[in-house]
Amino acid sequence: EAQSETYKYESDISRLRTLVIHSLYSHKDVFLRELLSNANDALEKLRLTALTDRDVMKAGEANVTVEVRLDEGGKTGQLVIRDTGIGMSKEELTRNLGTIARSGTSEFLKKAEEGGGADGNLIGQFGLGFYSCFLVSPTVRVSSLPPATSSNPDPIQHTFVSSSSGDSFEIYPDPRGNTLGRGTEIILTIEEDEQEFLSSQRLKALIDKHSTFSTTFPIYLKERKTVKVPTPAPESPVADGDPDELNDDLDSDDQTPKEDDFERITEENWVRVNDKAPLWMREPKEVTDEEYREFYKAVAKDESAETLGWSHFKGDTGSGVSYRAIMYLPAKLPRDYWQTMSTAVKNVRLMVKRVFITDDLGEDFIPRWLSFLKITVDADDLPLNVSRETLQNHRFLQQLQRILTRKAIDLFTKIATDEPETYKEVSKLYGNALRIGLLESPKDTVKLSKLLRFESTRSEYTSLEEYVENRKVGQKQIYYMAGVGEKTEDLARSPFVEKLKARGYEVLLLNLPSDEPMMENLRNFMGMTTQDVSKKGLKYGDEDEDEAEKKELAAQNIAFRPLLDWLKKDLTGQVSDVVLTNRLVTSPCTIVVDSMGWSANMAKIMAAQAG
Ligand code: ADP
Ligand code: MG
Repeated sequence: EAQSETYKYESDISRLRTLVIHSLYSHKDVFLRELLSNANDALEKLRLTALTDRDVMKAGEANVTVEVRLDEGGKTGQLVIRDTGIGMSKEELTRNLGTIARSGTSEFLKKAEEGGGADGNLIGQFGLGFYSCFLVSPTVRVSSLPPATSSNPDPIQHTFVSSSSGDSFEIYPDPRGNTLGRGTEIILTIEEDEQEFLSSQRLKALIDKHSTFSTTFPIYLKERKTVKVPTPAPESPVADGDPDELNDDLDSDDQTPKEDDFERITEENWVRVNDKAPLWMREPKEVTDEEYREFYKAVAKDESAETLGWSHFKGDTGSGVSYRAIMYLPAKLPRDYWQTMSTAVKNVRLMVKRVFITDDLGEDFIPRWLSFLKITVDADDLPLNVSRETLQNHRFLQQLQRILTRKAIDLFTKIATDEPETYKEVSKLYGNALRIGLLESPKDTVKLSKLLRFESTRSEYTSLEEYVENRKVGQKQIYYMAGVGEKTEDLARSPFVEKLKARGYEVLLLNLPSDEPMMENLRNFMGMTTQDVSKKGLKYGDEDEDEAEKKELAAQNIAFRPLLDWLKKDLTGQVSDVVLTNRLVTSPCTIVVDSMGWSANMAKIMAAQAG
């Protein structure tokens, strides 16, 4: 006798579900993407399990697909999503769909509730995908059957039922028996006012939009079409012949057929929906920006996610492995970026020949300061059944590490050169990270130092290259004043800075925590050394020069005396003095205003008034 058990949701789950429903209210269609992504995950897990336990594929079929269909073409209001993936046991149904064992959940809830809702970003990162089905369906029924394995040779198909209004769910052995062979079937009962989801065309469009890029297993949709077929005419000589012939016959017939020569029949066909090559396998010039942005949303698992730039490249590591990859720079720092920098972040998805292998390449795979990147890599010539352990020692991965870091820096550089306005945003968001990058990736010091932007006494936004260009003659140090968290205008008011400013020098005003260690580490840039203006070692570029200059001038004054005397005499009445200088770089001479006299500008104003 099948017995049903009723479980109460943990209070956190009820709150989470409500939160998801409220936050995603205007993006209801994400439910389909989330369910398809779960189905895809389940198939990936099955494939991985099959690498070590061949029996799992025997249970049911070798078939690894996802099917989407409307029950009776939508007439019953039921939408069915079925996969032949890893499935869930009774315990897994309870745990995965009924509890949430994630640390920080309560804290997250509190924050989100206070803030009036969680954004899509939070929801994607918290993996609350399953609950999005309540956006369109007041009750959800999930039946699931895990594959038979040596440890679980006789699995039983169970069903989980929950409704969006209740605070409990029910689980019972499926009265239909083990109908699934293997995998999971989700039956949604679409709400009255969400009828749009009961059209196979609409479903097809949604799968195209959200899931073609992110799912790797075939998705089939049962399409229902009403088609007109010719009514066989009994007196026709080809009536009982091949229907193709009949068609040919009609096509070549010039007479317009009468309406009752046709009958309408409803045809149902399974059609493969995600048949386009995955985005990263296509040629960059054939992919539109729109498609890149759409793919980013899928990668970020967030409907509202925006990107500041991407890089799509292919290559060969030199060890005989060719690969294609897409790397994205998010428009927002990941939640807890600064905290999670010290832990493994799963931001690189490695696939081999289109099949997902792992997103856990180990803690140090990508330099931690780059953990905000979202990267998809697809390698062609790795053995498909590589285990993670052998993978980590594979030369390809070691080379890939280096390639990804370099490509990331190139991406920053490209935005800085081609899109200076976007780069201002990048710099604001990733400035601190780039400074840390300079500390952590010593091989890339030069490139990274060019990516930094600062506020200074001269400009609100300057690069070191610009600083060097604007240096005073003789200046050999890059001056900076650092104070973590201080306002730049306060830094500018420090006496150290004022003194330099008065002498015409530019001083960088640094207030990020990473600024000071970065500057000390950088030491020099384009031949200039970095110098904290409040510390010893500061040299005014002109003081040495002053000494040397004086000596040299004295010597030259003797040598040039005759010329100076002659010029003074010749220009009597036109100039007040003729002096020797070594301040000019390209011009042979200049007319300067006496320190007591009018400036050139003032002279012009006076002349205009007199006129
Ligand atoms: P996430 O996918 O981020 O883990 P979800 O809320 O989307 O979060 O899903 C919760 C869990 O339920 C999944 O981690 C998985 O263990 C399980 N699950 C959901 N759908 C399926 C499915 N079709 N087949 C097997 N397990 C599933
Ligand atoms: Mg999910």
